[in-house]
Amino acid sequence: MEKASDRVVLHIDLDAFFAAVEERDHPAFRGFPVVVGADPKAVRAAPRGELRPTGRGVVSTANYAARKYGVHSAQPISKAWQLCKEGEAKGGKPCIFFEGNFEKYGRESTKVMAIIRTYSENFEQAGIDEAYIELNPNDQTPMTKWRKKATQVAKEIKRQIKQQTKLICSIGIGPNKLVAKIASDFKKPDGLTVVPPEKVQEFLDPMPVLKIPGIGPKANLLFEKRGIRTVAALRKISRDNLIAWFGKWGEGIYTAARGKDNRPVREFHETKSIGREHTFDEDTFDAQELIATIKKLAAMVARDTKEENISFRTIELKIRSEGFITKTRAKTLPQAEKSTAVLERVGMALLLPFLDRRENPQHKKIRLLGLRVSNLVSYK
Ligand SMILES: [Mg+2]
Repeated sequence: MEKASDRVVLHIDLDAFFAAVEERDHPAFRGFPVVVGADPKAVRAAPRGELRPTGRGVVSTANYAARKYGVHSAQPISKAWQLCKEGEAKGGKPCIFFEGNFEKYGRESTKVMAIIRTYSENFEQAGIDEAYIELNPNDQTPMTKWRKKATQVAKEIKRQIKQQTKLICSIGIGPNKLVAKIASDFKKPDGLTVVPPEKVQEFLDPMPVLKIPGIGPKANLLFEKRGIRTVAALRKISRDNLIAWFGKWGEGIYTAARGKDNRPVREFHETKSIGREHTFDEDTFDAQELIATIKKLAAMVARDTKEENISFRTIELKIRSEGFITKTRAKTLPQAEKSTAVLERVGMALLLPFLDRRENPQHKKIRLLGLRVSNLVSYK
C-alpha cells in the first residue's frame, strides 16, 4: 500500500545527446544517420577512389537513424563506417560523421542542467547528459496526487529543455534512483515512463538482467550460462547464492532485482574522478608533441573541475604505449589544488621518466596519454 514515506525520483536522460546537438546545428543533415566520435581526417581516399576509415577512435554517440544500421556507442569507428556503407548499399541514407565538439556539448549540458536544477533542491548530475531530481511530497498529500504532480513536472522539464535548447530527453519516474533510471531507458526517444512503487516488480520482472545498472556483459554471461535471462528468473536465486557467485556485490544484485535502492539524490555524490585522454593518430615518441598534449589535457581537466567547483589532491597520468601496454603513475599533493599550472607541472613530471631510460628503456612509442584527478574536494 502507499506510504507517505514513498519517494518520488525523476531520472532525466538526453536522447542521443552529442548526435542530437550536431543534428540541431546542421539542419541540412536532419533525418540522416549521424555518428559522433570519428576524426573526419581519419577517413582517407584509398586507391580506386573509395573512402576508407583509418581512424582508431570509437563511436561516442549514434543517433537513432544510425542505430538502425547497427551502429552503437563504444564501437570502433572503422566498424561503424563499414555498417554505414552496408546500410547505404541497401538504399539507406549515407552516415554523417562528426569528430565531436566536446566543448560545445559541455556548454549545452550546463544549460540543460541549469533548467533541471530549478525543479528541485535535491538535484544530482549523473553524467554529461543525465541527472536525477527528487520531489519531496509533504506528508499530508496522498502519493497518487504526488505522482500526478511529478508527471506534470516531467512534462514541464521536457518542454523547457526543448524550448531553450531544441534537445529531446526521456524521463523515468520511480520510487528510487534505480527504478527511475531503468524507466527513463524504457521508452526512447522522447519517453516518459512512470513506475509507482506497487508496479515496480511487474515492471522489472520481464526485463533482461542486463537492464539492471551494474550488471555488465561479464555478469550477464554468467547468468546466461545458468539459464537466468530475466529479472524474474534472477529473483528466484537466493541471496546466499548471489553472494557466493559475486562476493559482496551479490548483495547489491539481490536488492536491485527487487527494485530496492536507498541511495539519496545529492550533488557530487558520483564524482570520484575527472579525466581526459588523447589517442594519437600515430604512435609517437616526439617529446614536443607529448608535452604539448599534456598541456592541452591539463587545460581541459582544469576547466572541467572548475566547472564543477572542484579541487583535487591526486593527479594521475595514464600512458599506453605500442602493443597496448598501459601504465599509470600518480602523485598526491599535500593540499587540494585547482590551478592549470599545478596540473601541468605534475603531469609533466610524471611524463618525463617515460621519455628516457627511467620508465622507458626501449623508447617505446606512445599511443595514448591521459590525465585524471581524484581525491576531489568541492569548494562551492
Ligand atoms: Mg543519454
